[in-house]
Amino acid sequence: MNKPLFLTGGSDIISCELCPHFCKIKNGSFGLCGARGNKGGIGIIPFYGFITALAMDPIEKKPLYHFKPGSQILSLGFAGCNLRCPFCQNWHISQLTDISKGAPSGKYMKPGEIISAALKHNSPSIAYTYSEPLIHIEFLLDCMTLARKHGIANVLVSNGSICANNENSPAAEILALTSAANIDLKCFSEETYKKCLGGNLETTLDFIKLAYSMGVHLEVTTLVVPDLNDSDEELDKIAAFLASVENTDKRAIPWHLTAYHPDYRWNAPRTDPAFLRRTALRAKNILRYVHTGNV
Ligand code: SF4
Repeated sequence: MNKPLFLTGGSDIISCELCPHFCKIKNGSFGLCGARGNKGGIGIIPFYGFITALAMDPIEKKPLYHFKPGSQILSLGFAGCNLRCPFCQNWHISQLTDISKGAPSGKYMKPGEIISAALKHNSPSIAYTYSEPLIHIEFLLDCMTLARKHGIANVLVSNGSICANNENSPAAEILALTSAANIDLKCFSEETYKKCLGGNLETTLDFIKLAYSMGVHLEVTTLVVPDLNDSDEELDKIAAFLASVENTDKRAIPWHLTAYHPDYRWNAPRTDPAFLRRTALRAKNILRYVHTGNV
């Protein structure tokens, strides 16, 4: 089904209702993510099945430390993103702002070909990862449905930035097919999400709460970026939020604190590993599992 979902209108302007940007897309243009457009008053998704990376990875690289540990996972990358993080570590495939200037390299694959690749490599799960998968919801729904039919688990690695405020939302459709997820919670400031990342804190928190309430195995990652989110106060707020979600039915939400390195448009020095370890130690007072990474 490469019929666009959540794109409505049919005249000169098409509205996209997938994520909180709610883009109004003019004829001949694309929304902010660069993946969903308007051609002659019809919603288009030209990157349906466009795969920019395909690899077998250790599942711990997602990072997921408490779901099928020790297994290898077929991992798919996509094109574009609905956030604009200036420190993005995958910016060559995520920052697709103008399709007319050319897409990243990749190839089109059908959901059936993805499943065949997973079966060929004995992969017990498939990860939708590397850049933002959720803006390709149509492909994800098709691929995830087929994967489930073959007993393959679906793993989502995402910024959690699509509408998630109720059980009929786009997020609920995807999460119903998701076995495990690692969601980025990039900071705990609405202002930073809005002004620096082009996103929305509340939506990400809603996504995390919805995933947890739907029984998805959930782990959360925060890339600790100097001068962006590295105050004790802000990181402690993230830990407290995760503890509050975890307390609703006592399933653990492992938190991954990962070190940043300078990339894309952010030049601050690398995260201090000692700072990361101190933050993790404090968080362990209220969370069951806290892991440091990239150090
Ligand atoms: S998914 Fe893309 S086109 Fe749709 S509202 Fe979000 S940024 Fe805009």
